[in-house]
Amino acid sequence: MIIAIDGPSGAGKSSVSVEVARALGFSCLDTGAMYRSVAWQAVQNGVDFDDAERLGEIARTYDITFTHEAGNPKPVGVSIGGADVTSAIRTAEIDRAVSPVSAVPAVREALVAQQQRIGRSGDYVVEGRDIGTVVFPEAPLKVFLTASNEARARRRVLQNEQRGVGSTDFETVLADIIRRDEYDSSRAASPLKPADDAVHVDSSDMTMEEVIDKICELARERM
Ligand code: C5P
Repeated sequence: MIIAIDGPSGAGKSSVSVEVARALGFSCLDTGAMYRSVAWQAVQNGVDFDDAERLGEIARTYDITFTHEAGNPKPVGVSIGGADVTSAIRTAEIDRAVSPVSAVPAVREALVAQQQRIGRSGDYVVEGRDIGTVVFPEAPLKVFLTASNEARARRRVLQNEQRGVGSTDFETVLADIIRRDEYDSSRAASPLKPADDAVHVDSSDMTMEEVIDKICELARERM
């Protein structure tokens, strides 16, 4: 079974996905990490972000692999073309590069095919922007997770502090998530938007535990 969790940056998708997956015995697929990995490879190869052809080629030819650890639903690492990019894809430089790279249709086509292959191999909580609309439109549970801009920026600052990568300045982070949401929502290819049958969850005034419980309850009703 697939549980699709879409929504803007910093709404809590990653933390919620991992705990929902743990509670239900599912695995997690972080599709944002795949777009970030392609963006990282593009930077490494010196490819322009408007060079759709070469960006598509990177997405088609470089293998993206997740490293799993027994008993942990969340992969502990991600690599592209054999290079471990677990931390490198979380920098401010990649935050800026990822939106234009993920707007390229050929990049999306290549990554969506991989995501569908992975998701069909078991029970997954899949997080992203187009999971309910494009990747798994038949998923029995689709959640659109949102939160106010300020709540999202506060959470992202905390996350960056904990990870030790990315900006920890509130105003910088706020400006970045607003810019990224605008870009992701207004692009032509698979823009960020809720599926018609998505359940909307606004996490601004909810604790993470409340969000997790709500999604687990919705999932159990459909299992
Ligand atoms: O989820 P995360 O913030 O790591 O995603 C990084 C970027 O990857 C998003 O801002 C968006 O541009 C892109 N993305 C996407 N489609 C997805 C997942 C992420 O376009 N399914």
